[in-house]
Amino acid sequence: MDMGLTGKTALVCAASKGLGRACATALAAEGVRVTITARNEDALKATAAEIADATGASVDISAGDITTEAGRMAALAVCPSPDILVNNAGGPPAGDFREWGREDWVAAVDANMIAPILLTKAVVDDMIARRFGRVVNITSYAVKRPLPSIGLSNGARAGLTGFVAGLARETVKHNVTVNNLLPGPFETDRLHENIAAVADRKGIPVDEEADLRRAGNPAGRFGDPDEFGAACLFLCSAQSGFITGQNLVLDGGETWGTF
Ligand code: NAD
Repeated sequence: MDMGLTGKTALVCAASKGLGRACATALAAEGVRVTITARNEDALKATAAEIADATGASVDISAGDITTEAGRMAALAVCPSPDILVNNAGGPPAGDFREWGREDWVAAVDANMIAPILLTKAVVDDMIARRFGRVVNITSYAVKRPLPSIGLSNGARAGLTGFVAGLARETVKHNVTVNNLLPGPFETDRLHENIAAVADRKGIPVDEEADLRRAGNPAGRFGDPDEFGAACLFLCSAQSGFITGQNLVLDGGETWGTF
């Protein structure tokens, strides 16, 4: 299926590995000129070369922290007016809300709510003028099934989700859509770090905790980042112009519910 993306440009944030990288790879394979960002320049260069090898596409890079003004300006200097924006950043730390002060909350909201909103603001009017734009925010299935221990993430991401719900209805008439992808457990470094931390707390081997997590998922496995990249590609495709303001959960059915 031709996704109608040949010659388009994309800015994919936080993409030297994991879910961001998978989104960048899927887009590059469809002929999109992709710019990827991450904090570590060496890792970014290596990933860009690997995506280029795998897809035959040219991949641009911008090193910097996307949750800072400087990081965003650097990314926009390399890719000033993308047709596609994939917002992503690391998630806030887990913990007990009694231990979090104002600075912890401000950092979480800055990274997981304000940073994607400011990037969207920087690019959305050009998308509207061109009558094509796709904004995809990588959030978390915790938006729909919150866990108390990740309250910083629940709160900040819910704020982004609420904002997007309004904006998405304003832009869609210009063929500019805004949607959220809500990952469940995907096989990335972050997931394995989380599993190792839980195993440590429980005093059990990491493999045992990983098996428990897989067994607790209706699919009996973790998600493959390529599956996530494919979903992102579809939301960015020309065919997705009537899908906006949605929260697509990709979790093997782990979030129970009829709707
Ligand atoms: P990952 O650790 O595998 O990769 C994160 C990527 O983001 C890396 O390339 C890292 O360099 C980059 N990055 C992190 N913070 C950055 C910043 N401030 N500026 C620029 N680059 C930055 O993580 P992942 O599993 O791909 O997770 C991506 C997002 O999805 C995170 O917000 C995470 O909380 C969320 N999430 C992941 C899962 C999962 O199972 N993998 C589940 C739910 C939510």
